[in-house]
Amino acid sequence: MTDLKELTSVLRGSVLFDVQMHEYTSMQVGGACVCVFTPADTADITAFLEWARRNEERYFVMGSGTNLIVRDKGVRSPIIRIKDTLDSLQVEQEDASGVVMTAGAGIPLAQLVKYCTEHGLSGMEPLAGIPGTLGGALAMNAGTAGGTVSDIVETVTFIERSGRTRTLNRKAMGFGYRTCRELSSSSIVVSAVVRLRKSDAKRVSSSVAAVLEEKTRTQPLNYPSSGSIFKNPPKVKAWKLLDEAGMRGVRVRGAKYSELHTNFIVNTGQARAEDVLTLIDAGIEKVREKTKIKLELEVVIIGEP
Ligand SMILES: Cc1cc2nc3c(=O)[nH]c(=O)nc-3n(C[C@H](O)[C@H](O)[C@H](O)COP(=O)(O)OP(=O)(O)OC[C@H]3O[C@@H](n4cnc5c(N)ncnc54)[C@H](O)[C@@H]3O)c2cc1C
Repeated sequence: MTDLKELTSVLRGSVLFDVQMHEYTSMQVGGACVCVFTPADTADITAFLEWARRNEERYFVMGSGTNLIVRDKGVRSPIIRIKDTLDSLQVEQEDASGVVMTAGAGIPLAQLVKYCTEHGLSGMEPLAGIPGTLGGALAMNAGTAGGTVSDIVETVTFIERSGRTRTLNRKAMGFGYRTCRELSSSSIVVSAVVRLRKSDAKRVSSSVAAVLEEKTRTQPLNYPSSGSIFKNPPKVKAWKLLDEAGMRGVRVRGAKYSELHTNFIVNTGQARAEDVLTLIDAGIEKVREKTKIKLELEVVIIGEP
């Protein structure tokens, strides 16, 4: 059994033990994680990876936990959390057409959207209202029908489990619908270079306002959730399939399929991960029975089964 306490002497960042994950995820469910490590900088990530390799220890990477459901029995491997750290933003190049910036993986998307709005930079508008960090957005290729984070990315820098640091351009990253091939294993994003177009601050601001207004109207933002539970199958919306399968408003204890947006499961208070997972299984089953379509998860589920 690895001595996790050793991490406090190996690392300079914050190392917390027995962390209640419902406090660290937007769904607000789940048991404890043995250890959550927030690195001080990239050298600290390298030190953590050295330790993980030496001890043959698995680990999980997280950002803000807005797309993450942790099971009730908790997580037995350490979590490396890239939030409230690696959150710098630096303009590298600016000309008449646009701006190229390097952003840390821990920067909240909302902060990037705010910066772009204030400086009249266009490109981030479709990402307005998506919670979470830039690192999480890259791993998920987060976005909306209007565009995804991969649209503005020039390069991504990440550290592999082996300790090797790599910088790949957008094409080589293998972005797909809510996935990124190069980030599907244990690699940790540390930063990305993004390119934004010069525009008019008023125009950017009104596009962002329209996106936010639409989300407020169509999503149950007053309850804890993980956003969309399922990916949209080709040519059809997951919420519609769930709706037609009768899942709207279906509840298991404190969790229910939102009446406002059937692809959201909300925590109405005191929900356990088990309730959310039961609803997920029921949704998959009902949609499969009715349409033969197998819904695929968009959310990431971790922890002891
Ligand atoms: C109310 C609400 C609305 C939402 N709306 C949208 C939406 O419109 N569109 C959309 O796409 N998503 C949406 N989401 C889902 C979620 O916000 C996004 O997927 C977000 O990008 C996740 O970022 P995060 O930092 O919270 O990542 P987490 O949830 O912490 O992690 C998600 C995944 O990313 C990986 N990851 C996180 N950080 C890193 C890193 N630094 N390096 C490598 N891997 C990493 C994790 O391992 C995990 O696999 C919504 C969620 C909520 C709660």
